[in-house]
Amino acid sequence: MVNCQRCGQVLLAEGTYCSTCNHEMEQQFRVVREFIRNHQGVNLFEITSGTGVAIPVVLQMIKEGRLKIN
Ligand SMILES: [Zn+2]
Repeated sequence: MVNCQRCGQVLLAEGTYCSTCNHEMEQQFRVVREFIRNHQGVNLFEITSGTGVAIPVVLQMIKEGRLKIN
């Protein structure tokens, strides 16, 4: 049995995250991406305080190559 790595819910299909978490993470990604687009040169702390998205979440997006900050 596999659990969602974010909320612990049992996954019905193969994967790392449940559909709820996938959806939430996608929304967070869009918010952060939009924020960076509108505030050029922002740092990590400005992103988290401006979007409410937690630092580890933003770091994960950067690690996955989905985001680039200066
Ligand atoms: Zn989940």
